[in-house]
Amino acid sequence: MKKEKSLFEVLPQRLLPWYRENARDLPWRHSREPYRVWVSEIMLQQTRVEAVIGYYNRFMEAFPTVEALAEAEESRVLKLWEGLGYYSRARNLQKAAKQIAAEYGGVFPDTAEGLLKLPGIGAYTAGAVASICFERPSAAVDGNVLRIITRMTADDRAIDLNTTKQDIAEKLEAVYPAGSCGDFTQALMELGACVCTPKSPKCEACPMRDLCCAHAAHTETAYPVKLPKAKKRVEERTVFLLRCGDELAVCRREEEGLLAGLWQFPNCSGVLSAEEAIKWIAERGAKPTELVREVHRVHIFTHIRWEMTAYVLECSEPAGDFIWADRTEVEQHYTLPTAFRMFMEDV
Ligand code: SF4
Repeated sequence: MKKEKSLFEVLPQRLLPWYRENARDLPWRHSREPYRVWVSEIMLQQTRVEAVIGYYNRFMEAFPTVEALAEAEESRVLKLWEGLGYYSRARNLQKAAKQIAAEYGGVFPDTAEGLLKLPGIGAYTAGAVASICFERPSAAVDGNVLRIITRMTADDRAIDLNTTKQDIAEKLEAVYPAGSCGDFTQALMELGACVCTPKSPKCEACPMRDLCCAHAAHTETAYPVKLPKAKKRVEERTVFLLRCGDELAVCRREEEGLLAGLWQFPNCSGVLSAEEAIKWIAERGAKPTELVREVHRVHIFTHIRWEMTAYVLECSEPAGDFIWADRTEVEQHYTLPTAFRMFMEDV
């Protein structure tokens, strides 16, 4: 970490011209309106840019202003989020929109501290919106930025630790260039996303190449250092894909916990045999007449791995403690998270 001070100081002058020449044309970069930047930053958390573009455009078309989002039906917001995952992001987005519309007269707070008071906005998003939209010297430190900085400075502290993030944020904020704060935030993000990538950094195209400690030592991929990951918990589930003519059975999840309040195909924990499955579902009022097929699928959440055994069952009538809806209606009106939506091609 010897060259650290000069490295931080030199970052803006190296990165700004590089960014202005190399920035990708992304839909949320067409405006610095806080509503648009905020929605994009929330969508981009844990999700690739390519996957977000379509969602972002559809979302903006449906809810072009913070007021439109505040007034929308929650089910419509969730439907437009379907497949992006981490649904609490969508719920918090709407909660914050309601707060901005009702308490702030539709105007976003213009500092990171003010933004942090809104639901779903953490240090990263607050820094991104404050710097990009309001030219505040507030760093937005995500995995991309931590990777660049720890490589450049050969910093072997674990990036999961708040003390590491905080320290890096403070060092960056000390060199934020007045008048170009937004571009500096975006330049850091862009370098991490396009050049200083996790597995094979393109050092030959990097504007920091001659100053980068990890590059000099050929140890680029030794950084960032992370704490050992907790092993994912494995949960086995049985899923019931009930169909009656063109209708399918769905039900709503509990209001609390994983995938709270979203829709699902009926399911239970554990692996039931076909016989046990038919008995279980019949006890809940369904009228299965034929086992069409058995399917096995896996879905991975952040901390849990679901190993699912699903039975496609033909039913004689749309009966039982479920909502029966035709396939198009299920696709268009019910928010099925990916863990269940993937069965649409089986049923
Ligand atoms: S030189 Fe390589 S490792 Fe260093 S910051 Fe640039 S891309 Fe990352």
